[in-house]
Amino acid sequence: MTNKHGRQFLQIPGPSNVPDRVLRAIDQPTIDHRGPDFQALAFKLLERVKKVFKCSGPVIIYPSSGSGAWEAALVNTLSPGDTVLMVETGEFALLWRNIAVKMGLKVDFIPGDWRQGVDAQVIQEKLAADKNQSIKAVAVVQNETSTGVVSDIAAVRQAIDAENHPALFLVDVISSLGSNDFRHDEWGVDVTIGGSQKGLMLPPGLGFNAISEKAIKASSDATLSRSYWDWNAVIESNRNGFYPYTPATNLLFGLDEALNMLFEEGLENVFSRHARLAEATRCAVGAWGLENLALNSNEFSNSLTAVLLPEGHDADGLRQLILENFDMPLGTGLGKMKGKIFRIGHLGWFNELMLAGTLSGVEMGLALSDIPFNSGGVQAALNYLVEKTE
Ligand SMILES: *Cc1c(COP(=O)(O)O)cnc(C)c1O
Repeated sequence: MTNKHGRQFLQIPGPSNVPDRVLRAIDQPTIDHRGPDFQALAFKLLERVKKVFKCSGPVIIYPSSGSGAWEAALVNTLSPGDTVLMVETGEFALLWRNIAVKMGLKVDFIPGDWRQGVDAQVIQEKLAADKNQSIKAVAVVQNETSTGVVSDIAAVRQAIDAENHPALFLVDVISSLGSNDFRHDEWGVDVTIGGSQKGLMLPPGLGFNAISEKAIKASSDATLSRSYWDWNAVIESNRNGFYPYTPATNLLFGLDEALNMLFEEGLENVFSRHARLAEATRCAVGAWGLENLALNSNEFSNSLTAVLLPEGHDADGLRQLILENFDMPLGTGLGKMKGKIFRIGHLGWFNELMLAGTLSGVEMGLALSDIPFNSGGVQAALNYLVEKTE
């Protein structure tokens, strides 16, 4: 029987735990989205949210999942038959590619092994070979949530610049925004795609496009069909503090409070908290004698850790055991990693004792299973945390 006493430990890499402060902010009467109170909120939010993306241009906020914001980035900037250069970092990169193909784009998809990030060198070679500049956009995922691998976005920018290639640069930060450092302006990103339910600590339901001057220019020539996702209609309405359709008003109340929390802590402190808890997680995985799916230490994710089980052991069986006995959902293996890995989310509203509880649940689950492992992973994580306490 499932243990249902106390709060459920939700440790999937998004949706993440929503802070009580954000829940209370959302729990307000919905207001007139064409009235003065909404207008004041929108003016304030649209300015403040830029700080998270480190951008100076507009941020479009959609009432949508992250997938909607993916589609928006493509249909606003590209035309049928345009080529997009994408990289197979994992399942999310694949899903984004599928959208591009359905939209009528040609995708040059650089294959990957799902254990390493984007190789900027390969991108540079592809761009160098593109003599007639048919590649109109380079689109990559910063934090591949299906694998726990982070890619070096600044290096991809350098690769584009090194070839002096005019392609737009699109980056998915859905599971890295508010967890891993990201710099829209400094890294010359043209469209940054975000979502509410991961590092931003909100429930699902908001999608984001942070856009550059160059992206706005491209949108006036882009001919893919678009209506709901059309940036121009949103930018025009936003100028007056409104939206062309009904926004997710209560989620915007929540966003305002989530931004308060992020800025009170300070973004750099938010990133170092994530890095510390992520490292402690990896200490546990190592002590258990299990393998991190991510191969390169400079690409380990702050948001999640994907744990590879020995051949012949079913990760979903372990997840089921942990859910039933300890009421803790962990992330499932996606796509070709199904059954091979489980994913521990350590992002958003998260602290040392939540991590200790999470790792304890995993270690007890391992003990109940027939998976070979060494006990002491939790202790290794605690030791690391104590050592790294100032
Ligand atoms: C969660 C996620 C998505 C998809 O977002 P949805 O809200 O589920 O549509 C896309 N990319 C990345 C990297 C994600 O983590």
